[in-house]
Parts: sequence; structure tokens; C-alpha cells
Amino acid sequence: MEKIEILGVTVDSLTMDEAVSRACDFIEEKEPKMIATANAEMIMNATRDGELCKILNEADLVVPDGAGTVWAANYLGCKMKERVAGYDLSQNLLALSPKLGLKVYFFGSAPTVAEKAKAKAEVLYPGIEIVGVHDGFFDAEEEKKIIADIVEKQPDILLVALGVPKQEKWIYNHKDELKVPLSIGVGGTFDVMAGVMKRAPLWMQKAKLEWLFRGLMQPKRAFRLIALPKFVIKVIGSKK
Ligand code: UDP
Repeated sequence: MEKIEILGVTVDSLTMDEAVSRACDFIEEKEPKMIATANAEMIMNATRDGELCKILNEADLVVPDGAGTVWAANYLGCKMKERVAGYDLSQNLLALSPKLGLKVYFFGSAPTVAEKAKAKAEVLYPGIEIVGVHDGFFDAEEEKKIIADIVEKQPDILLVALGVPKQEKWIYNHKDELKVPLSIGVGGTFDVMAGVMKRAPLWMQKAKLEWLFRGLMQPKRAFRLIALPKFVIKVIGSKK
């Protein structure tokens, strides 16, 4: 499997079908594995956050989430086949879960959001077994209970929505104790499923403008758009 290093972060070059197939292999192997979904902002974070960078480079799979990552990979000489958005990857795995008899746990997002996302998943993917749900706002005491709950419920897939880099660090620090075969940091996925946040219309996704849509929809995060031009400049500067 081809890999490319973008600003110190190694990203896998693979299609959505290949990513789903790797995820299924991980679940069968039953050893705790972690998938990260790297967009330009996450890679920029990793250039400033050594712990995040190390975690991404130790992750079992890092998929190219975002037009910026795909552009950078191709610019740096790797044939990146397609974008593998974390949202789409998690939906594909949720769709497969009832067919394969896999148990899922939703952890993260604001109180009630993960519950709403669970209800939505049960409509979209009849027969899905979501064995546990917990929001992503907790103190140390509550965290112990969350961990005990995940261990007890023994999901095959754990979706963690705590934002970047909290979710990647949380998964990395707890995966051996949780013993969940597959954990994925999914960012705003539950917000989109619950209808709290909108995903960009398909034409914008195709025009590689999803980042702009997210910035416009959430003015609070508009300042984060600056990460993109910085990313492009850094990638151009990094080409040997
Ligand atoms: N979130 C959470 N706990 C926290 C911080 C954030 O559960 O301590 C949730 C937040 O409610 C949202 C998700 O993490 O549902 C992703 O947040 P954001 O959109 O900022 O993530 P990013 O774009 O960094 O993936």
C-alpha cells in the first residue's frame, strides 16, 4: 500500500473501498487498531503538536480526508486515488455493521447529540446494534465510568467525536485498555447525523469546497480557514 509523507505525517493512499476493506480486516484481527482521518487542518496541527504527529504516524491507517490532503499528496508525487472523508467512511462502516453483526459505540459530541445520531443511525441502517452512547464532555471521574462502560459493552467499532487532537490522543492513550478492535476519530460526524451541523452540498464537495462551507456555516471556526493557505505554502516549501 502506497504512503506519502505530508509535512511529517504519513498518509495512506487508498480508495474508500480499500479503506473499508482494511477496516474490516482490523475488526477481524481483534487487536486494538486506530484509524485517523487527516485533513489539512489536522496535518497543520501535527506540525505544531509533536504528540499528535507521533500518534498519527503510529496509527494503523491514516486516510486522506479533505481536498487539501489529496492535493498535497499529488503535488508531492504520490498518486492519491481519491478523498476518503471520515464522515463517509464511518457511514459505510455503520451500513455494513448490521450485515456483519458488528456492535458499535458512539462516544463524543454535546449531550443529546450522540443520542440523536444513534436514533438516526437506527433509521438509516436497520438492525444496527449501537451498544453504547456517551457525550464528549466529562471530568476524570466520569471518564473512568465511560471507559468501564466501553469495556463492558465490547463494541467492535468505537467512533470518537471529541474534536482534533483530543479524540486522537484519547484513542491512542486508551485503546489497549479498551480492547476495541477498531477506533476512529470522527470529528463532527455525530453533529451532522443529528442534524445539528450540515454537510456541504454535493456540488461543493465535488468542487473541493467543503472546507469553505464549514468555515461559512460556523463563523466561530472561520479563523481556522487560515490553516489552509498556510498548509499550501508549507507543502510547496517542503517539496524537495
Ligand atoms: N467535542 C466533545 N468534547 C470536547 C470537545 C469537542 O465532545 O471536549 C465534540 C464537539 O461537540 C463536536 C466534535 O467534538 O461534536 C467535533 O468538534 P469540532 O467540529 O471542533 O471538531 P474538528 O473539526 O476538530 O474535528
